[in-house]
Amino acid sequence: MGTIDLDSPLRQVVAQLATKLAAAREIRTVGQFLDFLPRGYIDPARPTDFTTLREGDDVVILAVVRKAATRRMKARRGSMLVATVVDEQGGELDLTFFRPYGHEQALLPGRRVVCSGTVSSYGQRGQLTHPEYQVLDETGGSEQPAGYGEGPIPVYLAVRGATSMKIAAGMDLVLHAVGEVPDPIPEQVRRARGLPSLTDAYRMVHQPRTDSEQRRARHRLKWQEAFVIQAALAQRRRSAMAVPATARAAVAGGLADEFRERLPFELTAGQQRVVRAIREDLALERPMHRLLQGEVGSGKTVVSLRAMLQAVDSGGQAALLAPTEVLAVQHHRSISRMLGPLAEAGLLGGADHGTRVALLTGSQSAAERRANLLQAASGEAGIVIGTHALIQEHVQFAELGMVVVDEQHRFGVEQRDSLRAKASTAPHLLVMTATPIPRTVAMTVFGDMETTTLSELPSGRQPITTHVVAGEKPGWVERTWHRVAEEAGGGGQVYVVCPRIGDPDDPDLLEGSTTGPGGPIPVQRRQPSPGATDSDGDGPDVGGQDGGDPDGDDPGGEGQDGDGQGPALHGVHQVQRALRALPATAALRIATVHGRQTPEDKDSVMRSFAAGEVDVLVATTVIEVGVDVPNATAMVVLDADRFGISQLHQLRGRVGRGGKPGLCLLMTQGTEADAPERLHAVAGTTDGFELARLDLEQRREGDVLGASQSGARRTIRFLQLARDEELIVQAHEDAWQVVESDPELAGNAALRAELARIDAERAAFLERG
Ligand code: ADP
Ligand code: MG
Repeated sequence: MGTIDLDSPLRQVVAQLATKLAAAREIRTVGQFLDFLPRGYIDPARPTDFTTLREGDDVVILAVVRKAATRRMKARRGSMLVATVVDEQGGELDLTFFRPYGHEQALLPGRRVVCSGTVSSYGQRGQLTHPEYQVLDETGGSEQPAGYGEGPIPVYLAVRGATSMKIAAGMDLVLHAVGEVPDPIPEQVRRARGLPSLTDAYRMVHQPRTDSEQRRARHRLKWQEAFVIQAALAQRRRSAMAVPATARAAVAGGLADEFRERLPFELTAGQQRVVRAIREDLALERPMHRLLQGEVGSGKTVVSLRAMLQAVDSGGQAALLAPTEVLAVQHHRSISRMLGPLAEAGLLGGADHGTRVALLTGSQSAAERRANLLQAASGEAGIVIGTHALIQEHVQFAELGMVVVDEQHRFGVEQRDSLRAKASTAPHLLVMTATPIPRTVAMTVFGDMETTTLSELPSGRQPITTHVVAGEKPGWVERTWHRVAEEAGGGGQVYVVCPRIGDPDDPDLLEGSTTGPGGPIPVQRRQPSPGATDSDGDGPDVGGQDGGDPDGDDPGGEGQDGDGQGPALHGVHQVQRALRALPATAALRIATVHGRQTPEDKDSVMRSFAAGEVDVLVATTVIEVGVDVPNATAMVVLDADRFGISQLHQLRGRVGRGGKPGLCLLMTQGTEADAPERLHAVAGTTDGFELARLDLEQRREGDVLGASQSGARRTIRFLQLARDEELIVQAHEDAWQVVESDPELAGNAALRAELARIDAERAAFLERG
């Protein structure tokens, strides 16, 4: 053979099928076709149970022919053949052919056949019209599709114009045409890990002789995927290390030291460990690439601030990127406060060796912005805080030495690359995330970074109690609002989180409420909709995880009004009005914050909430990340079933930050039993890693990786990050070693080709936006 390889156009082998597959599944090359794996197999020893068939389904069945007869048609000229096949229970299904030639001789009573087609019905009987079929017991000379061996029969997802059986036949041709394919996994690794060759794996997955063959083959294909990803990360890491960086060694008695002395608390052991690691990283002449993950409230900001000051001490500047303006503004405020005179260089009372903290947001006045830009460009500001726009726009720095990305596991590989590309000497990079990342995800998505974890919380942190509150239980809703009032009466503050903003003129919640004036929960149940009943968090939160606009203050995908998910989800405006109308809460100071407000409005609301001038803040998920108001003691999440696990955990992290215990009430509209399992999981533990693992199991990979990781998402076809931990760890070890011993992969053309393929896919993806 030789002329056909994995990159060859599929149409060179199977022209018609190639057209169909290109149209339906974007499969264009031989390699892509080989990666189109059967979605399952039929055990040739076990006929299909016809009761499982549904009208309209594309099916592949195994059955025995009972009888076949050709008869004249009444309405048309010619004749038709109806062959009746039976399953083990004696259930019947008709195979109907309007052009009977040849079929009658093949479909003899007693023969076992595999058929593929679309289930329809005629009268009361189920039928497949013009199915493709293959007689299993017949040997030789048949014109039926090839591709079936003795073993399990592959079943492919049918595409428009190509049944599973046609695909199997095409696969048979392709397998013969390609012959031996080059293997990206070195033989030595294969032998050590007991993996079949790629050539064998393709044969074994498409034409298995036994069930265990196809399982070994799938394992090998996953393994390869993990291996290629890890090799790419290993190379990426090498080239990142190859870019020189300016060492930012600690200066004794500098701002970093002074800052530590100013802190009103001791750093936890974990914080001290991280501080040491970062201190050493920064002192090297190669860029730090560190991911710091830590529970909500574990004190990452303090740690990063110390690091930024180290950069300043050594003559550099640090940029702190926040995902939203609310957070950027909050950081600016709290960092300025923590630094006190250290951040007032040149001002009366400021430390003369101090620095300045600049803030850049889209909503500043032109003059303010100019002043801050100038401080960044002149180097007067050692720390510059803003949203991602900071590095996207051409903000000038005098000497950018370090970049800190806060609360952002959406800051993906592509962004890291673009950041690296910006400087001739690369800035040191610290990415912080409060969403604990399961090990496999960290390895796959952040595999080019070193990871540190802050698992303990500062001592004295109060526990958060979480309850699921079923809106249908009489009195409970009322009780909840009384609880809110009590909390405020005791000097605490409360967040009330709603899944949407709603309109100021949405109908009143109180109207027609069964719970009377005590309960602003509508009687009207939501239409059962996929979003309302499924358990994988496909609520408004999906937008939150995938939020396409990194600068938007809309991480919750809020404001999806009229999304067809039923009319009765709580909106911010409605809830505010309802609370104002309730006797228990009427006297409280109630404010709202959401993504449709101007940044100034949002900021002023957050400021008054932080200052204790607001008792109850009715909010969308804009408050999801990072907002730090220690006096907030309670949170009520309305329609909690619309949020995903990680999101609820993040939201809950807004309370219990001060000296008082936190309370979180997850309200749902149905009964307690209706509440999805994940709400009980969130109520059951505050261990973010445990919850992240659950979340990963329940979500699709793409959702976990998020939009900015889409490059990675496209390269993950077979891996299941929730289940394949062992395999990913193995592939990681081996791939890093392979790259270590042969950085350019000179000795492995097949692996180089795979890496080029990933790059091309990633580039194509980025071009499309
Ligand atoms: P994170 O960013 O990890 O969610 P923050 O850095 O915002 O957490 O810290 C949360 C709160 O805890 C802040 O008010 C901070 O000042 C405080 N804090 C941080 N470290 C400690 C510590 N070691 N002891 C007591 N309080 C701390
Ligand atoms: Mg933080």
